[in-house]
Amino acid sequence: MIRLRDEVVHLKTKIAELENFKSESAGYVLHQMEGGIFVYSKQVAVDNEELVVNACPHCYQQKKISMLQPEKRALRELPGFIFVRPVIQNLQWIKR
Ligand SMILES: [Zn+2]
Repeated sequence: MIRLRDEVVHLKTKIAELENFKSESAGYVLHQMEGGIFVYSKQVAVDNEELVVNACPHCYQQKKISMLQPEKRALRELPGFIFVRPVIQNLQWIKR
C-alpha cells in the first residue's frame, strides 16, 4: 500500500511537470537560424515591443525552457553610450 501511495505521488509530480512545461512551451515553434542552428522560437511582447525569444533545443527536449541570448544586444546607441538589455532569466550563452 505504501508503495502504491509513493507511486501516486511520483505520478502526480510527473503530471505537474508535464502540465507546467505544456504552458511554458506554448507558442514555441521549431525554427532554423542562420548557419543551420535549430532553436525553438516564440514571439513575445517585451516593453511594448514585439520580440522573438529563442529557447535552447537541448533543454526543450528535456522539458525545460532556457532562453538563448548569443550576444549582448545594444538597444539604443548614443554618442559614447551603449544601453544593453538586462540579463533575461535562464540566460544561457551559446558556445562558439
Ligand atoms: Zn540548454
